[in-house]
Amino acid sequence: MAKSRFEYVKQFERENFLLPDTYLIVRVDGKGFHKFSEEYEFSKPNDIRALKVMNKAAQNLMGQFPDIMMAYGDSDEYSFLLRKKCSLFERREMKLVSTFASFISVNYLHEWNLEFPEKPIKLERLPTFDARVVVYPTTQHIRDYFSWRQVDCHINNLYNTTFWTLVIKGGMTGKEAENRLLGTVSSDKNEILFKEFGINYNNESEIFKKGTILVREYDYTREGDDLSKRQQQRVEKQRKKALIEEYHLDIIGDTFWNERPWLLE
Ligand code: ATP
Ligand code: ATP
Ligand code: MG
Ligand code: MG
Ligand code: MG
Ligand code: MG
Ligand code: MG
Repeated sequence: MAKSRFEYVKQFERENFLLPDTYLIVRVDGKGFHKFSEEYEFSKPNDIRALKVMNKAAQNLMGQFPDIMMAYGDSDEYSFLLRKKCSLFERREMKLVSTFASFISVNYLHEWNLEFPEKPIKLERLPTFDARVVVYPTTQHIRDYFSWRQVDCHINNLYNTTFWTLVIKGGMTGKEAENRLLGTVSSDKNEILFKEFGINYNNESEIFKKGTILVREYDYTREGDDLSKRQQQRVEKQRKKALIEEYHLDIIGDTFWNERPWLLE
């Protein structure tokens, strides 16, 4: 295309190329989902169908971008791990962040319409997401990152389960339940659930306690730097074709990672 005299304005653009050979994690989070969940009358503490919508949207994203090795999600958030060698959008930060945010938003809407035909989305409250990308240098950082998110899921879920049990079964107002839980630790909440309501927290659904893990599962061959072009293409094809499996299990311990060495290649 011919250059115009206006084109100099392009030079004002700034690009952040993220550090090569490092893990990237993109986390998306729903905007104002506390309100969103009230507007569309989510069941509390956990609306399983809304989680299903989130999980489907995240799966679609993984299907589109084979560089995503795994993802972890709970509530209105999802974290996507991009492999170290990922060169998606030349690792341009703005491209990555804006594409993930828009992709998850439109996919959430799409999946919502399939799951909840009886609850049409209103123009005044569309589901939108923000996104950020963080660069992590080592496998330990990745392990700690996912442990951090899973512990967060557990803490929030224990709180929410106790809070809503006090409200729904205990007949408390939100304020009363909040006060009751002020200053309590995990064991106190477990005890309230068990002694006052006969609920054993351990028996709650795994998806609520552990969140959702999406994994690109494939018959893995080690990807060194010394692969020929042809070998590289083969590995890439494998990754693209790989099944995306859904789990609700512990990712804090070693087992999950030891069984899947390709995730941290
Ligand atoms: P922000 O825009 O700052 O992210 P937010 O209202 O989305 O604000 P979050 O901290 O992201 O705040 O919390 C998300 C909230 O969405 C949860 O606290 C919960 O109330 C609600 N929520 C999300 N998913 C579900 C679900 N599946 N079932 C019930 N409630 C949900
Ligand atoms: P990238 O993802 O890098 O933006 P792109 O294919 O979107 O790639 P753009 O430079 O953004 O490339 O160009 C958008 C292209 O979309 C246009 O060149 C044109 O071919 C097509 N396009 C967009 N809107 C219309 C339209 N209303 N009618 C016909 N073609 C359109
Ligand atoms: Mg938030
Ligand atoms: Mg949110
Ligand atoms: Mg959130
Ligand atoms: Mg374009
Ligand atoms: Mg364009």
